[in-house]
This record gives sequence, C-alpha cells and structure tokens, in this order.
Amino acid sequence: MDRLPLGIFMICDQELPLRLATAQRLGITTAQILAPPETERTPRHIEELKSRFIQAGIQITVVFCGFPGESYADIPTVKTTVGLAPTKTRAERLTAAYKIADFARLVQVKAVGLHIGFIPEEQNDPDYRPLVEAVRSLCDHCAGHGQAVHLETGQETAHVLLRFLQDVDRQNLAVNFDPANMILYGAGEPIPALEMLAPYVRSVHLKDALWAAHPGQEWGVEVPLGSGDVNMEQFLQTLINNDYAAPLTIEREIVGEKQALDIEAGAALIRSLLNRLL
Ligand code: MG
Repeated sequence: MDRLPLGIFMICDQELPLRLATAQRLGITTAQILAPPETERTPRHIEELKSRFIQAGIQITVVFCGFPGESYADIPTVKTTVGLAPTKTRAERLTAAYKIADFARLVQVKAVGLHIGFIPEEQNDPDYRPLVEAVRSLCDHCAGHGQAVHLETGQETAHVLLRFLQDVDRQNLAVNFDPANMILYGAGEPIPALEMLAPYVRSVHLKDALWAAHPGQEWGVEVPLGSGDVNMEQFLQTLINNDYAAPLTIEREIVGEKQALDIEAGAALIRSLLNRLL
C-alpha cells in the first residue's frame, strides 16, 4: 500500500456498486464503510460484501458504527442523540458497538470508528467517568480482536479530546481526524487541533466546510474539497510533517451523482497537492 493511499467513505446501501465503480474508475484503493444494519450482517451478506470489495480491488480500512435513534438535525439534537454520550442508550449502544466490531473482524478490518458524541468538558462532570469506562470497555473488546478504536473528531475541542484519550488510557485508542467537523461544530481551528492530536491520528476524513455565523450554536456548511475553510494543502502538509502514513479517506456527505462528481474533483485536487508536497 502507498504511504498515503486515497480512500472513500462509503455507505453499504443499494448504491454501493456505483460507489465501488466510481472508486475503481478513479484508481482509489481503500474505503471506510458504515457498518450495515444488523439484519444485513448474515454470513451470506458478509461473503457478498467481502467479494464485492475484493473484486473492486478496494481494501476496507475502518468500519464505522451508526446507532438507531441518532440524529444530526442540529447541534443540540446531536448532543442528546449521538454516540455513547447519551446515558439512556449507552448500555445498548455499547453492545451494538461490540457486535459491529465482531462484524468488522469477519470482514478482516482492524479498526472500528465512531462518533462517541459530546464529551463533557469538565472531568468532574458526573457523566465524564462513565463515558471513559464505556470507551475502555469498547477498546478492550476490540483489543481481543487485534482491532483499534478510532474516535471521530468534531464535537469537542482538541484539548478536551486529548485529555479524554489520556484518561481512557488504552493502547488501541486512536483518532479519526475530520477537519471539517471541527468547523461544522465550531470546535476550533482544524490545523492546530491536528497538531495537538497527531500522535493519536491513525485515520482521517478529507472533508471541507465553511464556518457558521455563530459557530457552535448552528451548523457550518459542508462544501466540496478545496472550497471550504480547512486549507487542504496545509492539512496535508501537517499530516506529512507528523509522519502520518495511512489512508486519506474522502468523505462527502451528500448522495447521488453530485457526490460522485465531487469525490472525483476532490481526488484530483488531493493528488495534485500531494504531487507538490511529497
Ligand atoms: Mg467524518
């Protein structure tokens, strides 16, 4: 594998064959996937999924968890519905995450990714320790499979996330750094955040976004790579400076033909920037 192979984030729905064809046409060799729903993780489905990716010559590098009941409608809704942070659904979602890790093992993937939701800012918040314990449990379950756990950035500042990683204190805990999320959630400038978290960063989303007028209160806007506030060249340069050697996974959170077109233009942009930087 190249030091910095390109990848695409893919949902495994009925458009998967189209996404794989797009990746193949663009010479993209890796993908992160959102775990299919539990009903589609039967042995037959798993064999079919594996053979689709093998035939396309694409290696799955991270399987992401999604949980029923999550909503990204607005930032307050994310707070109450997303990841392991909401206390009411934590136990059932932890079990669901274990099952996704088991599925990832069957498709021979060494990393499980997730949004854990909003980490409490204060260590003495009554919800802080239980969330540390929940992530430890998931790390320990995954360690039994030789898998890592990649926490997606965005919902909190880099400082809060770094302290949380240190408090969880597990060798197989890592970060999936999404620079656009930092902007979308108003969680801080992405480049300094990447520098702070770099020792933990083992996967990334190449995604771009524009700051909201009132960051943190309302969403910023996700835009095609290169047309947002991330500064892709500086982002790549910072990864290279920190000896990052893992896939550069393009994520475009829209569907249909425009998604494929934006991914194609994004891949061309990243390749031209890498030609200059490497
Ligand atoms: Mg992302």
